[in-house]
Amino acid sequence: VHRAVYWHPQQLPQTTPLRRNISSDVAVVGGGMAGLTCAQVLVERGLSVTLVEQAFCGAGASGRSSGFITPDSELELWHLVANYGEQQGKALWEFAMSGLERIRRTISELGIDCDYQIQDSLLLARTPNGFEKGVRVEHETRRALGYRASLYDRVSLGKIIGARAVHGGVRYDGTFGINSYAYCRALRNELERRGVQIFEGTRATRFAAGGVETPGGTVTAPAIAVLTDRALPDLGLAPAAVYQAQTFLAVSKPLHDRDIRAIFPDDRLMVWDTDLLYHYFRITGEGRLLLGGSQLSSMYSGHEIRSPQRAATSLGRYLARHFPSVTVEIDYIWPGFIGVSKDLAPIVGRHAAFPTVLFAGAAAGLPWAAALGEYLAQKITDRRCELDQTLSAERRFPIGKRVQAVFGKRVSFALSHAATKYLSR
Ligand SMILES: Cc1cc2nc3c(=O)[nH]c(=O)nc-3n(C[C@H](O)[C@H](O)[C@H](O)COP(=O)(O)OP(=O)(O)OC[C@H]3O[C@@H](n4cnc5c(N)ncnc54)[C@H](O)[C@@H]3O)c2cc1C
Repeated sequence: VHRAVYWHPQQLPQTTPLRRNISSDVAVVGGGMAGLTCAQVLVERGLSVTLVEQAFCGAGASGRSSGFITPDSELELWHLVANYGEQQGKALWEFAMSGLERIRRTISELGIDCDYQIQDSLLLARTPNGFEKGVRVEHETRRALGYRASLYDRVSLGKIIGARAVHGGVRYDGTFGINSYAYCRALRNELERRGVQIFEGTRATRFAAGGVETPGGTVTAPAIAVLTDRALPDLGLAPAAVYQAQTFLAVSKPLHDRDIRAIFPDDRLMVWDTDLLYHYFRITGEGRLLLGGSQLSSMYSGHEIRSPQRAATSLGRYLARHFPSVTVEIDYIWPGFIGVSKDLAPIVGRHAAFPTVLFAGAAAGLPWAAALGEYLAQKITDRRCELDQTLSAERRFPIGKRVQAVFGKRVSFALSHAATKYLSR
């Protein structure tokens, strides 16, 4: 088994660090989906942009992800409505949808080769309770707010997925899967072609009035957009409100057609379940099974678990339980950190001492990250602000600052996520 990211090439990209002082209209920090999209929107508006990335573009969560492009990510629509009310919940959903549409449009306009797979999404219940309180509620919420969705009970579900021990699902269209590393690299290259100055291997270390410092030089800019997801606290941004959750992803050797048909008798789907520590899977263009999941023991761990043996065993158990007749040989497995807030919706803010520094993170999803990038760009160009309060780091979370001060981030985020996903029912 390769302990490497399946999407990464054997030779990781060469980087060109910043070695002088430089100035531009905007400095963007972070070269993932969010930072690249921010730069993309700014360049479309005719601004000059410098982007600094500590490793290489796509090195973070964006290039390690499973590439499900759906507005759900960590939260379903019903969670948003339960936690934020109908109007604001729908506004957040539309926000994520705008990110999804931007990714789709960019792939088509730039002709990006990133294993674009149009696949419907299926939220699966692994228990009767998951069906009643996750799947059915999600279906009702979608229909009530005017979105398409189909409900499958235990029996009808068999027509679209050959899984055992499942209790129903809700399916909807308009979603797709991608190789998100290939997407980031292609967008990075296109931005460079359009004049964005990109410095990889360049870590932003601190802010100064009118600029951002890196070990090799300062980027002076009247506006700074920081989109470093889980790493915002490293720069003193939203330190109490942003943390990380670890997940594992495995990619199998190409499956036989008969095994793919045993999993998906009809169309190929992108699937995840209603569990708090949920699993997710889809079939790539090469016919490989991509399967991911988290475990409580490693999910809130502050450091990367380098030996994924336990995760591999747990993913194997999941397959044996639900698809006992399918032969799956894992080829690649890797861990990754997802930046999260305590209610799993993103964080947007402005530096208290340097008001030209805007930041966004804890995206918990590629479409959300793309939407955040666009949002910060439009804050700079058009003073966009309609979600500032809703996504503020100072908003009310299920677990507040005082409890967090006693129990620490790990416990507080775990409890807060459980409350966000389950108590709102
Ligand atoms: C294993 C895994 C599977 C996932 N699967 C999915 C999925 O299927 N669908 C989905 O929607 N989402 C998925 N996600 C979540 C999704 O990948 C992230 O929410 C999203 O990519 C975040 O994008 P970003 O640009 O905000 O962050 P990142 O991609 O992490 O980009 C931030 C960048 O900032 C850089 N950086 C950090 N600090 C500094 C600094 N001081 N100076 C300069 N640069 C800095 C980092 O190196 C990094 O490249 C997954 C995540 C993981 C880890």
